Amino acid sequence: MEKIRASDILEILENYDVEYRFLPRGRFGYVDPGEQRIVLNARYDKFWQRLTLMHEILHVYYDERGIERTEEEIDSEARELLKRFPYLEPFREK
Ligand SMILES: [Zn+2]
Repeated sequence: MEKIRASDILEILENYDVEYRFLPRGRFGYVDPGEQRIVLNARYDKFWQRLTLMHEILHVYYDERGIERTEEEIDSEARELLKRFPYLEPFREK
């Protein structure tokens, strides 16, 4: 099984803009593949934003490879990755 590596995460962060927007409650974020943008809900704190960022990065990674993953699988993988990369931050400037 193909596993995401740190270099894959960095590559996605290089290619995608990360934006913070006030989305409705209960919505943590989403990927806009056409615009190469990851949107995070500005309502939530850093923990949730980081977890969501990892979650959306995994969506990009698997979508690019045509690999099917359920939301639950993506979620638990995002939580595991966050333990390994606890200080993940999007690049602020592009
Ligand atoms: Zn998802």
